[in-house]
Amino acid sequence: MSQITQLLNYQKKDSELLALEEEIYNSEERKKYIQTQNFLKKASEKLDQLEGKSQELAGLFDRLTAKYEEISETLKDYEHIDELVESGADISFYQRSAQQLTDSLKSLKAEVNNLIAAAKETQDEYLALKKKVIASQKLYPDLRKAYQDYKNTRQAAADAIAEELKTIAADIDEEVLKKYKAKRAERIFPILCEIRSERCSKCGMELSLADKETVSAGRVVECENCHRFLYKV
Ligand SMILES: [Zn+2]
Repeated sequence: MSQITQLLNYQKKDSELLALEEEIYNSEERKKYIQTQNFLKKASEKLDQLEGKSQELAGLFDRLTAKYEEISETLKDYEHIDELVESGADISFYQRSAQQLTDSLKSLKAEVNNLIAAAKETQDEYLALKKKVIASQKLYPDLRKAYQDYKNTRQAAADAIAEELKTIAADIDEEVLKKYKAKRAERIFPILCEIRSERCSKCGMELSLADKETVSAGRVVECENCHRFLYKV
């Protein structure tokens, strides 16, 4: 049997294995398992983000507390304002200062309100996420098992195909098979394609002059564009 016929046989059997792999890949069992896995992975990053945000808010709280203490300190000047006024101090200076303190307190109050809102939002987000994470973590082992069980049911069929592939492969050139497997790993399929009107039947690329000669001699070439094996019947 010619090398091309062997390769075509191999590819035909391999397409059964590919179909089986796709069936497993697209199964509900895998989808649910992977979705939960991805969620847990992202949730862990998100929890880190929320922790960072909470630290940021704590830093802001410290700054606002310091500002409040600064204002309280200045307010102490007013404890003896009557004495100061009696001793002839400039009342307009204290009036201006009182206005500035009022403004500072107003802006501090607004900042505190913003901080409270941000802290509440962060906490709500954290609690909701934590609830979902706990639920997903509970579910995760069952989903993993369901996917594994499903894969096991398909394993006997996959093993049988793999055995047949091994038998066919025994007659195929090792280097050619290695290249075939590399292409398969890159998810190129079918790998071996017929040449029609001097072109790759898959992507339409025309063969070079050298390749035209090679295929005329009954050998396989690689498409310059899609890198499939090309053969002439
Ligand atoms: Zn091509």
